[in-house]
Amino acid sequence: MKEATKYIHAGAEPDPSTGAIMTPIYQTSTYVQEAPGKNKGYEYARSQNPTRTALEKAFAVIENAKYALAFSSGVAATDAVIKLLEPGDEVICGNDMYGGTYRLFTKVFEKFGIKFIYVDTTKASNISASITGKTKLVWLETPTNPLMNITDIASVAALTKPKKILLAVDNTFASPYLQNPIDLGADIVMHSVTKYLGGHSDVIQGSLMMDDLELRDKLYFLQKSCGAVPGPMDCFLVLRGIKTLHVRMKAHCENGAKIAHWLKKHPKVGKVYWPGFEDHPGYAIAKKQMRDFGGMLSFVLKNDSVQEAMKVLSSTKLFSLAESLGGVESLINHPASMTHASIPKEERIKNGLTDSLIRLSVGIEDADDLIGDLAKAIG
Ligand SMILES: *Cc1c(COP(=O)(O)O)cnc(C)c1O
Repeated sequence: MKEATKYIHAGAEPDPSTGAIMTPIYQTSTYVQEAPGKNKGYEYARSQNPTRTALEKAFAVIENAKYALAFSSGVAATDAVIKLLEPGDEVICGNDMYGGTYRLFTKVFEKFGIKFIYVDTTKASNISASITGKTKLVWLETPTNPLMNITDIASVAALTKPKKILLAVDNTFASPYLQNPIDLGADIVMHSVTKYLGGHSDVIQGSLMMDDLELRDKLYFLQKSCGAVPGPMDCFLVLRGIKTLHVRMKAHCENGAKIAHWLKKHPKVGKVYWPGFEDHPGYAIAKKQMRDFGGMLSFVLKNDSVQEAMKVLSSTKLFSLAESLGGVESLINHPASMTHASIPKEERIKNGLTDSLIRLSVGIEDADDLIGDLAKAIG
């Protein structure tokens, strides 16, 4: 199936009871049984819900995976992956990642005896140097949030596979339209569905996709036992969102490229972080493992002034100052005080996430209008 067809038909079957073309919102907590233990595959809605089942089928199809599970948020999906581990186990992860993932690892799971080792994953040698007999999981983000660093998924998979270490990839920034980590050797793909998959800034949700049935069953057990499941209305919204993923992503990529090039030429703008530039250190890998470069980018002003960055952040009109990303409308964000405030300042600065960094989630409005908005704000 070609991309466009896949997104529209993924997991979509007419509702068996009425023929409704859209899977209905099964707003129910339980299902009536014909006799004790005799049911239609649905017993209690924390375990199964038909709207969620349809969405989980769609999730699997769009990530080229065999199975998928939906969670009430992206961090709930990440939480389930870490709960596969035991005290004493070690996780190798990136030193530039989503602030909420960092908070979950350091503030929630470290106290249960799980050790997290943060390395620059753009060099696979840093990962191999950190592998010990206790390493059970490598957690990757590529492109990273917010510095747009690129890690070669296939070469990391070549390290983890022979040692039976799980490789999980947070694919939120790329979306399945741009990158499919399972095809590159990853064991688990995680999405903050809240972003590009939902696509309309109206839902919080997460997902995990995987090929291995045993792994799926372990994660399903955690989904059911810990209970971080999305409601049917949210599942319906995401089923609708996925149908236009390819159309939206094409527009995000086009606008992202136009704005990245415009910013690069602007006399007041310093470094622009976008993997589509040939001088970006991850360009060759991005070109190899992604279909395009996406709508996320970050930049600093040439004078690196925090005060002037703050002025830009509060003067755009079309770019709304907000956390989150991946919706049809453009957003502007100050990672240091917003999305990444939970990372200690020294850690942040050491990894290049300075107080003057501005992050853009480029929406699908008209590119000229977006550029005009930025031009006025930068001055
Ligand atoms: C938003 C985000 C998350 C967390 O997802 P929620 O849906 O907000 O819980 C994880 N990773 C990345 C890259 C994100 O942008």
